This record gives sequence, C-alpha cells and structure tokens, in this order.
Amino acid sequence: MHTHSRSTDQLTDTPDEFDELEALINPKPTPDAQNDDSDEGFDELEALLGEALADRKTTEAVKQLRAKAKGGFGLSTEDQGRIRAWELAKEWLPVANTALFKRYVCTCGFHTTVFEGLMLEQRHRHSSHANRWTAQEAALASLPNKTAIRTAQIPMCQRCAASKGYSLVTDLEWQV
Ligand SMILES: [Zn+2]
Repeated sequence: MHTHSRSTDQLTDTPDEFDELEALINPKPTPDAQNDDSDEGFDELEALLGEALADRKTTEAVKQLRAKAKGGFGLSTEDQGRIRAWELAKEWLPVANTALFKRYVCTCGFHTTVFEGLMLEQRHRHSSHANRWTAQEAALASLPNKTAIRTAQIPMCQRCAASKGYSLVTDLEWQV
C-alpha cells in the first residue's frame, strides 16, 4: 500500500508500533552491563539509561499529544513540530532529496516545467511500502537526489497564445 502525502500535518496513528518502538529505544540492560562494576562501566551504563529514559519521556509526550489530536483538540504549531521531529527520528527514515516539478503540457504539444519545491522522501521504518514526502528546506548531502514531476494539461501556452489572439505583452500585472 502506498500512502502519498505532501501534507505537513498528516500524522500516522499506529499504536501497536509504540510497544515495539519502546522496546527498541529502551532496551533492557544486558547481563554484561549489569555485571560490569567498574566505575567507568557504571558511568556509561548510567549515561545510556539516562538517554533511554529521556527518549522514553519524549515517546510518552508524543503519545499524549497524539491522543490529544485524536480527541479533536487542536495542537499548537510547537507541538506539531515536536511530533514531526519525533516521527522523523523514530518512525520515518529519510530516503532521498526530491525536487518536485510541475509540468504544464499544452494541447499544441509544447510543455514547460516549473520547480515547485524540495521534498524529503521518507520510508516508514516498519513498512517498506509506505512512503511519504514532506517539505524540506535544504537537501541532505547524505541522501541521493530524485526528481518528481506532476503533470497538468493546459489549453494554451506561451507558444500558441498568439495564434489564439493573445499577445504576451503584459496588459495587467497581478500581484499574487
Ligand atoms: Zn500551446
């Protein structure tokens, strides 16, 4: 199944994955770590457990925010940002920088292609078939680059405008 979305506010809601996720990010200490009674080993273990605890707190916070969103309560931009950051770190793996273009194809056969924005393609960590794209400010050097094109049919282009009685000399300039 493919889920394509450019929406920046789409949230996935898959409660089962939280348990797996928590097991992954909050693993039980290994017997080796427990038997290591040197100060250094203990400090490392403490640090690791501290990180896991912080991670767990974040996961809990995100869980609560999602429940709030599900209950119909609006989330602040800040909270949406927290969920987005958590999703990016834990649920969605970055795949490729994607340059999104729109191609306008005229009935005369001429086409023109316009850059619409840079997107980050991501794959869900538990489902290799679930991809999504979110707006991205800058390309990540570690990722490959891809190009995506959306096509739209148009009845008239700059090439055939004259033959239809329209000059491309600007009569009016619209401020969008
Ligand atoms: Zn044309």
